[in-house]
Amino acid sequence: MTTVWRGVYLDDRMAAQMDQVVALVGPDVNVRPTQGSYAGGDVAASAGTHDGAGAIDLAGQDAGMTQDHRELIQAAGRQVGLAMWIRDPSQSDWPWHLHGISVQAGGYWDQGGLSSGGHGQVMDYYDGRNGLASGAPDDGPRDWVGTTWETYQPTITTPEVKDDTVASVNVNGQLNIFVIDESGGIQQNIAGATAWTGWLAGIPGQWSKALSATTDDAGNLSLVGVGSDGVTVQQVWSTPEGWHGPVPFPGVRSI
Ligand SMILES: [Zn+2]
Repeated sequence: MTTVWRGVYLDDRMAAQMDQVVALVGPDVNVRPTQGSYAGGDVAASAGTHDGAGAIDLAGQDAGMTQDHRELIQAAGRQVGLAMWIRDPSQSDWPWHLHGISVQAGGYWDQGGLSSGGHGQVMDYYDGRNGLASGAPDDGPRDWVGTTWETYQPTITTPEVKDDTVASVNVNGQLNIFVIDESGGIQQNIAGATAWTGWLAGIPGQWSKALSATTDDAGNLSLVGVGSDGVTVQQVWSTPEGWHGPVPFPGVRSI
């Protein structure tokens, strides 16, 4: 089955992988596809690699985009089972972009729905090459070679919940939910186009109960609740600062 993911056609499995990439890189990094899959041979510069399933290109030089952002996307893509490379203008007649091919469930030999060109790039990735005609060495991190979407998914864990409050808020059209886990941290789960991203930790602070979430028109997000010290606290998400807090409320103490 195919789906439209941020304006391009992807198979559902690939769309779920891309939802997870978005969650891993966080809202500071703009993940904007410029080509999807099933291109039917129309993508001249891609040697047919976009003709089948499991292929995507992402913009690499939008306003505000840095090399750090490109490397974050590449690492997240590889982490969830994509052979993903940063492509630069010195390599061909193309702008900075990221090119990703989904490693199929069977790994090296499994073409699955990929085009033969896309499958060839998966084999290049396993073999330590960069997937271009030059056969040059892979220029990205090798940490996740062998990972597929099927081996990645079980690593998305479900937290034990400390408090029974589930806070929810809609941010830029995506439902976000938050819970306090057993260690007093907050975990976040985001509804993507096809599936939830899975639980993500890393929001600062120690919390105990009464969590709630709000957002404003600018996409800034505010979490309020009771901290582990019994004092109500606030965490605020804004761009480009990210999470900053906790911000204590003066004179308020829960009983
Ligand atoms: Zn491409």
